[in-house]
Amino acid sequence: MSSHTEYDHFVDGEFVASTSTERIDVVYPYDGEVWASVPDGTASDVDRAVATAREAFETWRETSPSERRETLYAVADALDDHAEELGTLETRQNGKLLREMEGQAQGLGEWFRYYGSLAETDRGDTVPVENKDGQLFNYVTHEPYGVVGAITPWNSPLMLTTWKLAPALAAGNTFVHKPSEQTPVSALRFAEILRDETPLPDGVYNVVTGAGETGAVLTNHDGINKLAFTGSTATGRKVGEAAGRALNPVSLELGGKSPTVIFPSADLDNAINGVVKGIFAATGQTCLAGSRVLVHEDVRDEFVERFTERAQSVELGDPMDRDTQMGPVAFRDQWEKVRHYIDLGAEEGAEIAFGGDQPDDLPGDCFIQPTVLVDVENHMQVAREEIFGPVASIITVEDEADAIETANDTDFGLAAGVWTEDMRQAHRVAGAIDAGTVWVNEYRTISLRSPFGGFKDSGLGRENGAEALNEYRQSKSVWIDLSGEVDDPFTMG
Ligand code: NDP
Repeated sequence: MSSHTEYDHFVDGEFVASTSTERIDVVYPYDGEVWASVPDGTASDVDRAVATAREAFETWRETSPSERRETLYAVADALDDHAEELGTLETRQNGKLLREMEGQAQGLGEWFRYYGSLAETDRGDTVPVENKDGQLFNYVTHEPYGVVGAITPWNSPLMLTTWKLAPALAAGNTFVHKPSEQTPVSALRFAEILRDETPLPDGVYNVVTGAGETGAVLTNHDGINKLAFTGSTATGRKVGEAAGRALNPVSLELGGKSPTVIFPSADLDNAINGVVKGIFAATGQTCLAGSRVLVHEDVRDEFVERFTERAQSVELGDPMDRDTQMGPVAFRDQWEKVRHYIDLGAEEGAEIAFGGDQPDDLPGDCFIQPTVLVDVENHMQVAREEIFGPVASIITVEDEADAIETANDTDFGLAAGVWTEDMRQAHRVAGAIDAGTVWVNEYRTISLRSPFGGFKDSGLGRENGAEALNEYRQSKSVWIDLSGEVDDPFTMG
């Protein structure tokens, strides 16, 4: 693990140097080793990638359904073949557990197969219009937007890229991708694999690396026809503003402050496992983290005692070690942010039941213990703002109505968990919570077949499922006259 690699952008099927000499280091957060660097992209780097994608669009959009399907299936096979390598790269970038990143990489091929099969089986529509006494024939086709500008975060880099790239390519678009400056290498290697091992034409998938400013240039580029973004709500608003100015369609997958509600009838063993899964897995660095734990007062004391014991037993360590349960946070600034919120919670009146420190026996400066904040109230900042770390804020609720009101008293609406053995209550509460995803007696499970996205400030649009294809294409309605006569020109028919 001591080699250092210098990468370039990947445009039109090759690595190309930046017009700038500024570079960004890529660091392994476990021990702080700098193991790679990438260019900090410029406006002319972005211009070049967008021009390439524009040119490639003219041929990619014309590919036949079976050609598109075959190409996406080949991408899937290449991902399967390189899952171990790509998973390891992901862990070296963001410090998340190898078993999680490798598992994600192993699953990504299925997204390309799913959207590949939709590319082949999708059909247009005929509409039974009644104008001119039925003497008009109307049909609807789907057309790609053109060049997609995609910006992704550091927590699950290739997975969140795939959620955009697979439907975008299936719909006939081409792609310029700006990965997070923390995690650019897996995208570059992925692009190289696609060139070497699949028939995907050069120029269809391009990667420009850089910091947030490079993302802003891409977002505001007038050669972009659609923006796809995953990241924080603050940056999402900027991307949305740029899309609004250009009148471009945009999909935004943003942050969350997701509630997990534990009712008295819940199976507490399962609920504790589910809350651990929701907030300590991935060191809490997931958009759907179950960071607000709303516990009914009848089970509050038992839950807090057992959950805190469980937090103490989480095994922290080397993310490459398959026995480790929690790795470091992804970089030091993120660590500082998490620690800041823990201190803030204490100042606001919460009690730190456990956690918040870097254990002495671990290297680097990015480890933080799983943290349990109790006696949190929903108005506190630790209950309202996304921490993006392993910090559970435990809030006591009186009854079902209080649980629903508290769950919905947030700017966010990405996900929620409900723990109850009462089937009627499960449906009632799932229906009443304002969130794009609700799990009952489970947490943090997703499928390529089911839509994912946020209510309220958690986003716009949906990824995954058949409906995600519509994020990357527009309908065209074609009218053919069958009567041979034009209606009264001064009346709308
Ligand atoms: P950021 O919003 O900071 O960054 C996301 C991406 O946007 C990065 O590539 C970043 O580049 C880029 N960027 C930064 N500034 C701009 C700008 N002005 N214009 C365009 N692009 C810009 O989020 P994080 O990377 O910190 O990721 C964590 C966030 O992502 C959390 O809020 C999390 O909830 C959310 N997220 C949402 C998911 C969902 O599906 N809803 C899934 C996963 C994460 P750079 O890294 O170089 O700054």
